[in-house]
Order: sequence, then C-alpha cells, then structure tokens
Amino acid sequence: MAIYQKAKGTQDFYDIDAKKMDEVCAKAAKVASTYGCKYLKTPIFEHAEVFEKNVGEESDIVSKEMYTFKDKGDRLMTLRPEGTAAVARFFIENKLYANPGLTKLYYYGPMFRYERQQAGRYREFNQFGIEFYGQSSYLLDVDIIKCAYDIVRAFNIKNVVLKINSIGDFNSRANYSKALKEYFSKYIDSMCEDCKRRLNANPMRILDCKVDANNPAIKNAPNIKDYLTEESITYFNNVLKSLDNLNIPYVVDDNLVRGLDYYTDTVFEFIIQSDDALNGLALVAGGKYANMINSMCGVDVPGIGFALGVERLKAIADQVGYKWDFINDLKPVVIMALDDESKQESMKLASILRANDIQIEIDYSSISMKSQFKLAERVNAKYIIIIGEEERNTKIYTVKNTENRTQEKVKLEDLVKYIRG
Ligand code: AMP
Repeated sequence: MAIYQKAKGTQDFYDIDAKKMDEVCAKAAKVASTYGCKYLKTPIFEHAEVFEKNVGEESDIVSKEMYTFKDKGDRLMTLRPEGTAAVARFFIENKLYANPGLTKLYYYGPMFRYERQQAGRYREFNQFGIEFYGQSSYLLDVDIIKCAYDIVRAFNIKNVVLKINSIGDFNSRANYSKALKEYFSKYIDSMCEDCKRRLNANPMRILDCKVDANNPAIKNAPNIKDYLTEESITYFNNVLKSLDNLNIPYVVDDNLVRGLDYYTDTVFEFIIQSDDALNGLALVAGGKYANMINSMCGVDVPGIGFALGVERLKAIADQVGYKWDFINDLKPVVIMALDDESKQESMKLASILRANDIQIEIDYSSISMKSQFKLAERVNAKYIIIIGEEERNTKIYTVKNTENRTQEKVKLEDLVKYIRG
C-alpha cells in the first residue's frame, strides 16, 4: 500500500544507523567547539524569502528544489534547503553584528531539496555546518578548511580530495559575468530554457547547468582565473601558502564555481574518492561570502562557512572501517525471576545495573523458565542473572554465562564488576 511507504528521497534510520548519524554530528560538534563555535538550532521552516534572496533566484535550489508552501495564514514558507541563509537570518535578527570580533557557529539537522533521486542524493538529508561571521582574513579561510579537514580525519577518512578555487571578489565577479554574457550570447540558441534566462539574470549560473553540462559552449567558456583582480589573486595565493604550511593537501580546480549566489573568493569542496556510486560526490562544500550579510541588511559583515553531508560522512566512515564510539562490546543481560516476588526484585536489580550503563532485558509477561531462556537467546544475552527466594534473601545471585556455559554465585556488590569483566 503506497501510503505506508516512506516518501521518495527520504530515509528511516533504525537503531545502529540512527546512532551513527548522531555520532557524526556529536563528533563534528566536538571538533567545532575546539574552534570556539557555539551551537545554533534554527527552525526547520523559514519565510521563503530567507532562501530566495540569499541562495539566489537563479540557483537550482531556489528555482527548482525548494519545498515551499502557503501556511494557513497565507504566508509563504520553505522547508530549509540549506543552513547558511537561516544562520545569517539569525545573525541579523539578533543584531550579532554589533558584537566585536567573530561570531562562530555550528549547526546540524535535516535539509530538504526536491532533487532527482540518485545514489547519495536525497530529498531529506542532514547537514552539519559551520559559519564564521565578522572578519575577513585568508587565515580564517584556512582555519575553516582545517576544521572540515579535522572532522573528516576524526572519522579516519582519507579518501577525499580537497578541491579549491577562487571565484574572486565583487569586482572580479562583475568582470567575469560581463565576459560570460558576451561569450554565451553566441551559443545561447543551443542551450536550455533555464540558461537562456540565466544569460541576463546571472550568467555564472550557466556554468552549473545540469542539462547543458556536456555542451561544448560550457566546456570552452572563459575561466574565472583570467578575471581575478590583483587583490583576489594575492588573497588566494596566501590561502594556498598557508594550507601548504599546515600540510593540508589540495588541488586547485579552475572549474569549481559553487552553485549558490553568495560565494566570493575562496570556494572549496572535499570530493569523495571511492569505488562505489559516491565516487566524485562532494562530502564537504563551502567558501567565503563577503557580501551576503550586506545584501541582506546593509551591514558590511563578511562570512565564511561550510556544510558537510551527514549521510555521506556516515557511509564513508563505514567504508573505511571507522570504529564507532557508541558501539560498546557489552552484551545485554537478562534477569530471570523464578516467582512473582522475584519479578519485583528483578525490577530493582535492573535499575541498579542500568545505572551502571548495562543493558537489562526482562520477560515482563512470564515467569516460565522456558520463556525467559528464549528471551535470553533472542537478545543474545551474555549473562542470565537468576533470582529466586534464596537469592532474594541472601543478595547473592546465580549468574549464568551463556557463552562458556558456566555458572557462578555473585554478591550484589560485585555484580557490576563481574558483568563488565
Ligand atoms: P551544498 O549545500 O549543496 O553545498 O551541500 C553541502 C553538502 O551537503 C554536500 O557536500 C553533500 O555532502 C551534502 N548534500 C547536499 N545535497 C545533498 C543531497 N540531496 N543528499 C545528500 N547529501 C547532500
């Protein structure tokens, strides 16, 4: 029955998979905290214009992929497709630009984009992201890349390539846009309807077009590197020098122009190298946005940030055999009660052992030994603690080890240590 199937492009995360998602975010948050970032949770939906204005009307996200709806008060709302515009809205709404120095934030949670379903690409997916607002320095660009690098390394992931490029400052981009417009006007008849519109509205977006990706006109288009101002060239060279200094390997990729409007100067991606369908996809993507806050509220505050795909990081961590912290090797323990009074006692004993992080299973519906042994088998219990009248009185329990089939009497005060081995 179709109604009982999850929606296309969405996923359930059950048990271990859900815990892995949590660990990705928790560990990334720990790294972000070493960079002084504070945790920000923004709403899942925002006024549509938060994204329309900032991500860029000509971007694929805004023009095709947003889940936008009218609420009952006739307001246009959007399920957030990315984090940066929402973080910027928070920054402006709370006038954080009035604070001296840097505002450093991290966020994580679900994002929504109506994308074509493919491996590694979902309609609901999770991002972990970092944003620094308030200063402009090539050292910040390097620090933010290093932060992403540290997160990826925390999961032992080495099969990614850092690709980096400069798309120039405001003046570089204006020159480049002009050159692209001139160039593409010769080929525009062979291009898709979207590109025809982009030619005037935002010719740089033509370079990201998925429909025309193999059109030779795009492949042979002018390159941003020939339009960078002296300042942008110096800035970018400083970023690269500093990355060298930190021994962070990278590849300069002239074709890297991020698909969102707010980027300026440094843009980067960590690209996955694997022998499955994730190969070539970005694990992390980010860059600098010198003018985003300014264009939103008229206050000149530069920003920089990145977002990483939590599902993708989880998948690659599994591929490289990362040992998840949450998986402890302690197996469950079943407390088996031989009579009703002992069942009561088993509830008390369970709370003592659970307080020591031991997983306890109880057969809530039966005192039959057969049924309780079955439970132990089903949950793969290593120990079965047996409580009858004698154990209740002496507080010395019979503990069966199901693996080596031995049995010992253990005092209450020694139980935790005994189970933990
Ligand atoms: P973006 O916001 O498009 O720059 O994406 C940043 C990161 O989020 C990417 O590098 C991916 O790891 C992840 N990501 C983006 N879109 C999707 C998607 N549809 N499904 C899964 N992960 C995604």
